[in-house]
Amino acid sequence: MADQKLPTRAEDFSEWYNQLVLRAELADYAPVRGCMVVRPYGWTLWENIQQALDRRFKATGHVNAAFPLFIPRSFIDKEKSHVAGFSPELAVVTHGGGEELAEPLVVRPTSETIIGHMWAKWIQSYRDLPILMNQWNSVVRWELRTKLFLRTLEFFWQEGHTAHATSEEGEAETRQMLDIYTDFAVNDAAIPVIPGKKSDAERFAGAQHTYSIEAMMGDGKALQSGTSHNLGQNFAKAFEIRYLDQQGQLQHCWTTSWGLSTRFIGAIIMVHGDDQGLILPPKLAPFQVVIVPIFKTDAEQVQVMDAARQVQAELTAASVRVKLDTRDGMTPGFKFNDWEMRGVPVRIEIGPKDVAKGSVVAARRDRPGKEGKTFVQRGELVAKVQELLTDVQAALLKGATEFRDANTREPNDYAEFQKAVEFGFARAWWCGNADCEAKIKEDTRATMRCIPLEQPAPATPGPGGSGKCIHCGQPATVKAIFARAY
Ligand SMILES: [Zn+2]
Repeated sequence: MADQKLPTRAEDFSEWYNQLVLRAELADYAPVRGCMVVRPYGWTLWENIQQALDRRFKATGHVNAAFPLFIPRSFIDKEKSHVAGFSPELAVVTHGGGEELAEPLVVRPTSETIIGHMWAKWIQSYRDLPILMNQWNSVVRWELRTKLFLRTLEFFWQEGHTAHATSEEGEAETRQMLDIYTDFAVNDAAIPVIPGKKSDAERFAGAQHTYSIEAMMGDGKALQSGTSHNLGQNFAKAFEIRYLDQQGQLQHCWTTSWGLSTRFIGAIIMVHGDDQGLILPPKLAPFQVVIVPIFKTDAEQVQVMDAARQVQAELTAASVRVKLDTRDGMTPGFKFNDWEMRGVPVRIEIGPKDVAKGSVVAARRDRPGKEGKTFVQRGELVAKVQELLTDVQAALLKGATEFRDANTREPNDYAEFQKAVEFGFARAWWCGNADCEAKIKEDTRATMRCIPLEQPAPATPGPGGSGKCIHCGQPATVKAIFARAY
């Protein structure tokens, strides 16, 4: 498999992606249409993402819990926009143990309703607040058009849920989690993202407002890579989540929810990958270093394998995630291609000459050919490898940021706007009108991705800049990002 070439990204980006996911052994198609099997290599990547996020959640006071997979159908009906948003995508269980159920159960599409139900029991007083919870699980949404990692019937994610005494605390939590997603994306995944607010048309079903982080993929399209919702008192009212305040008055809570899913793996692939395959950011890569031993004779094999095992032990002791490729009957060239396909950030080659010189060859995945190769003296091995990993991590972020910025345009009129969204992002004044947003989508297939938190500085003293809507010409006070999206 690995010696066959991928379609290039320029030829067919979509097929490049599909084949890469299979050949890098990240995931495979399941027998049920639209479902995926996450293979061990893909799951290890997800575990590293989980750890990076979980660490941040716990540092900000959140704890993990587990709520059930099944939710009574009637729960979904309790919040009006929630039911409207999710009904078409629900998987419903009508039979159990060979009998028809008195009330059908839905397989959770998300857990606001069942968590709300439990909180109504658990929360009595202001002393019980805030509640800061998260769960790692999978959810089911019956999608019609599916693509591995990006959109599958069942996907894996974390869903954070919190309850607060005041509106301000709820909003602060929503923004804090958006900041955490941004920090993770930029510093661990080397993906530059734009944090911002969604339009009413694009917000979560049942939310007061939704924030998201938006990233640009290698084909210029946007991918919503994480969301944080301020639910106001919508779910608190639907599920009677109430508390007695310090004056002894009964009040509804203010709740939030926020999620990041295995979809993010799709972002990593499409932001960093090249025509040879995956390129993984060292901080998340299942293997940061792969060692490929090179030998012909039995005597060479003994020497080389001995050195390779020492290198493996030294790096492991320094907490580098390292794989020694001992597979038999495969040429070094085949192994190089295979690990390039799988995106390992640094490859170490050891041959008989290297053993004699007391050195190894280190090759960075992000710089193909000779340019990315360096000789490393064995005495400097750990320091050099750590330096290389840091460099690769930084270079990936730099490359992705330059690509994103080079393909983000500030159109002056609607004609320029239409051209801009053919590839990449357009940052344009928008009046805030949903009709305008719908018309832009109809004309260009581009959607309003978000209103970035960072807005142009005001030209005149006052509450932000102002201009004319790129579509209707009416006064506008915000610049929004428009793009075609996954
Ligand atoms: Zn307008």
